[in-house]
Amino acid sequence: MPLELRIEALSKTYPNGVKALQDVTLAIPTGMFGLLGPNGAGKSTLMRTIATLQEADSGSVTLDGIDVLRQKDDVRRILGYLPQEFGVYPRMTAETMLDHFAVLKGITSARDRREVVGALLRRTNLYESRKQNLGTYSGGMRQRFGIAQALLGNPKLIIVDEPTAGLDPGERVRFHNLLAEIGENVIVILSTHIVDDVSDLCSRMAIISNGRLLMEGEPMQSVREIDSRIWRRTITKQELPEYEKHFAVISTRLIAGRTVIHVFSDSRPDASFEAVSGSLEDVYFSTLRRATHEEKAA
Ligand code: ADP
Repeated sequence: MPLELRIEALSKTYPNGVKALQDVTLAIPTGMFGLLGPNGAGKSTLMRTIATLQEADSGSVTLDGIDVLRQKDDVRRILGYLPQEFGVYPRMTAETMLDHFAVLKGITSARDRREVVGALLRRTNLYESRKQNLGTYSGGMRQRFGIAQALLGNPKLIIVDEPTAGLDPGERVRFHNLLAEIGENVIVILSTHIVDDVSDLCSRMAIISNGRLLMEGEPMQSVREIDSRIWRRTITKQELPEYEKHFAVISTRLIAGRTVIHVFSDSRPDASFEAVSGSLEDVYFSTLRRATHEEKAA
């Protein structure tokens, strides 16, 4: 039976008053799921709560009959987690460190461990560098090592928090391919503020901001929904405030030194705008913009 992680009415307010999660309800099926939101949206709070590392104030999370917020040991047995800040011992080799993690995961037989560790190092393309100290690894290699440890014990739920920040383009592609392969049979939640990570990889997604769920669905479907409502025009930087006053400017970008704006509108704003086919970035920015305006109006 396909797995589903069900998050219901989850809320969390930190002691300083920050509402990091506000009544979040979300169903996450098997496959790659993208959790997209700007910095401070509440993504890590949600990931750490699901990973049993911190408490929610109210709400529930269930997976395969497990009450995730209470049956923490049961969750940990089926969870693989790659946190935002993944610390390693720089003077330890990848092989030794992964072997230690395997002991912690409860793989007691040295022979089993050798087999599992070897297989994971091959799968993450680190076998050739297994005798190298982790301190000498590149950012991409460290992330792949992080995935190797997250995969120990055949998890059914894998959480990766902001995995591609700081990776060069080649490393990012390798990391994506690895994740895509893993995501075929288990739930992989990819938390990120990088829209391209989601459009490249995820069959489903959600957008959160200020602790609230703003949208949930399929990336391609959501792009179809805004199609023919995105308009582009090149302006000077000085003109931007005026345009923002009159139009729903969802993004501004410098292209070859000129400012290009995207505007959300059901019809052509005026003759100076040209139609562009929408992208997930347009979905993301128009969703965030709408939420900001609704908050201001409220
Ligand atoms: P994201 O992962 O999307 O960047 P976070 O979950 O880290 O978002 O943070 C959500 C909000 O909660 C932010 O405003 C952040 O400053 C705040 N926050 C996070 N952790 C704590 C904490 N331990 N104590 C107080 N506020 C926190």
